[in-house]
Amino acid sequence: MGAKEGFILFKRELPESRKPEERIHDYKEIYKPFEGEKLNHQAARCMDCGVPFCHQGCPLGNIIPDFNDAVYRNEWEEAFQILRSTNNFPEFTGRICPAPCEGSCVLGINKDPVAIELIEKNIAEKAYELGFVKPKMPTVKTGFKVAVIGSGPAGLAAADQLNQAGHEVTLFEKDKKVGGLLRYGIPDFKLEKWVIERRVEIMEKEGVIFSTGTEVGFNIKAENILRNFDAVVLSTGAQQPRELKIKGSNLKGVHFAMEFLGKQNQVIAGEIPSNPISAEGKHVLVIGGGDTGSDCIGTSNRHGAASITQLELLPKPPKQRTVLNPWPEWPMTLKTSSSHEEGADRVFSVLTKEFVGNDKGEVTGLVLVDLEWKEQNGRMQFVEIPGTTRTVPCDLAFIAIGYGGPAQNGLLEAFGVQTMDNTLPISKEYQSTNKKVFLAGDMRRGQSLVVWAISEGREAAVKVDGFLQGNSLLPRKDEGYYEVEQQIHN
Ligand SMILES: Cc1cc2nc3c(=O)[nH]c(=O)nc-3n(C[C@H](O)[C@H](O)[C@H](O)COP(=O)(O)OP(=O)(O)OC[C@H]3O[C@@H](n4cnc5c(N)ncnc54)[C@H](O)[C@@H]3O)c2cc1C
Ligand code: SF4
Repeated sequence: MGAKEGFILFKRELPESRKPEERIHDYKEIYKPFEGEKLNHQAARCMDCGVPFCHQGCPLGNIIPDFNDAVYRNEWEEAFQILRSTNNFPEFTGRICPAPCEGSCVLGINKDPVAIELIEKNIAEKAYELGFVKPKMPTVKTGFKVAVIGSGPAGLAAADQLNQAGHEVTLFEKDKKVGGLLRYGIPDFKLEKWVIERRVEIMEKEGVIFSTGTEVGFNIKAENILRNFDAVVLSTGAQQPRELKIKGSNLKGVHFAMEFLGKQNQVIAGEIPSNPISAEGKHVLVIGGGDTGSDCIGTSNRHGAASITQLELLPKPPKQRTVLNPWPEWPMTLKTSSSHEEGADRVFSVLTKEFVGNDKGEVTGLVLVDLEWKEQNGRMQFVEIPGTTRTVPCDLAFIAIGYGGPAQNGLLEAFGVQTMDNTLPISKEYQSTNKKVFLAGDMRRGQSLVVWAISEGREAAVKVDGFLQGNSLLPRKDEGYYEVEQQIHN
C-alpha cells in the first residue's frame, strides 16, 4: 500500500457540479471532471484496512482497497482489472450508486469516508479512454442457448456473464432500446444514455444477441422460448407502481412518477416529440421522498414548474447518525440530492388524505394532515395532529411511493413460475419453481438498486451455468473473483 497517511493529509473532496440555475436548462450530466493528482489524493485516503468493511458493504463485493491503491499509483489498467473482476458495469454504478460501501467505510467512524464512488467512475472512464475496455471474445463455446428476458442492469449482467461462459445468449427486450430503468427511468442528468450505448456495442461485438421491441408473452410466446432455449433468465423488473388509495387519485393531473420520467427520457432520446405531461408553470406535488420522487423534482424544475413540494410520510431524518444507527449500518440520515439543490420544498411527517378537483375533473389541491410519530410496543406509529388538516394547491401530482413487484401480466404463470402472495416469484438460489427458469434483479428481490441488480445478474448466471454444465467456473461473490476471472479470460 503506497500512501500511509493519506487519510490524515487529505480531506474528502468531490467534483464540483454545474450551478443549479445553469443546469436546470438542460438534461446533461451535472458534475464537472475530477482528475489528476486530486483523484490520487482521494485514493490515498484509503487506509487499506485489515478488515475492509467497504468490501462487505458493496453488494458486488468490489475489492475496494486494492483498486484504491492502484489508482494512487496511477496504475489504471490494474485498477480497471480489479474493478471489472467484480462489476460488469462500473460506468453505471460510478454515476448513480448510493454507495453502500461508503456507508460502511472504516474512515467514516470519525472522518468522512473514502470517495469510493468517484474513484470507481474515474477508473471506468479512464479505462475507456485508454482503450482497456475492448470486446473480449469467449474462449469456449458450449453449444447451450440461454434466453435472458429484460435488459435492465440485471439482464445485462446475466447476459454478459453467460456469454463469457460460452453460451449463446439472446437478450429479449420489449422496449425499443436496451437498458431497462437505466434507459427509461433514471433521468439523463443522472445518467446520460450514451454510457449505456457504449457498453451495449461492446457486448454485441462479444456475441450477445439483442432482440429489442420483443415483448415475451406478447410478440413471442413463453412456450416457444422454453422449447428453443436450454435455460431462461427472467429479469423483467418490478415496475408495477404502488397505488395511492385515496379519494380523487383518478383526477386529471394525478400521475404515477414513471409516466412522467419514462416519457421525458424518450423525448431526450428523440423517440417522441414532447412529454404528454408538462410541469411548466404548474404547482407540482411529489408524493414520496425516495429516488424516484427526487427525479420528478429534477425533471419538473427543467420543465419550469411554478413550485415543487415533496411530501414524505416519515419524519425528517437526522443530519448525523444516531446511537440507534451506528457505523457500519447504512446511515439513515437526511439525503439532499442534486435535484433537491435545484429547488423544492420538503415536508415530512405528513399524510395525504384526498385530492380535490374542479368541475372539469382536474386536480386543484390535496388535503393533508401533519403527523406525530410515537413508539408504541417497540414500533414507530403515527397519529394525526388535531387542527393541522389543510388543503394545499396542486395542479400536477406525481405518485412516487414505490413499486408493488413484477407486472401482473401473466408472464410468470406462462413460464410456470409460482409467486408468494401473488407478487414476488418464489426462488431458491435464483432458480424458480420451473427448474429451467432463473430469476434476477428487481423482479426477484423487489424494487432495489442498480448495484443489486448487477449482483443478482452475476449470481443468477453462476446458477444457470451450473445447471447447464454441472458446475460453473464463473466468479461468484467472495470467492476470489480476481483469480477466477483471470482463468476465464486468459
Ligand atoms: C425513477 C427511478 C430512479 C432510480 N434511481 C436509481 C439510482 O439513482 N441508483 C440506483 O442504484 N437505483 C436507482 N433506481 C432503481 C434501479 O433503476 C433498479 O433497481 C434497476 O434498474 C433494476 O434492474 P432490473 O434489471 O432488475 O430491472 P429493470 O431495470 O426494471 O429492467 C427490466 C426490463 O425488463 C423489460 N421487460 C419487462 N417485461 C418484459 C417482457 N415481457 N419481455 C421483454 N422485456 C421485458 C423492461 O422493459 C425493462 O427493460 C431507480 C429506479 C427508478 C424507477
Ligand atoms: S473501509 Fe474505507 S479506508 Fe478501509 S479499506 Fe475500505 S475504503 Fe479503504
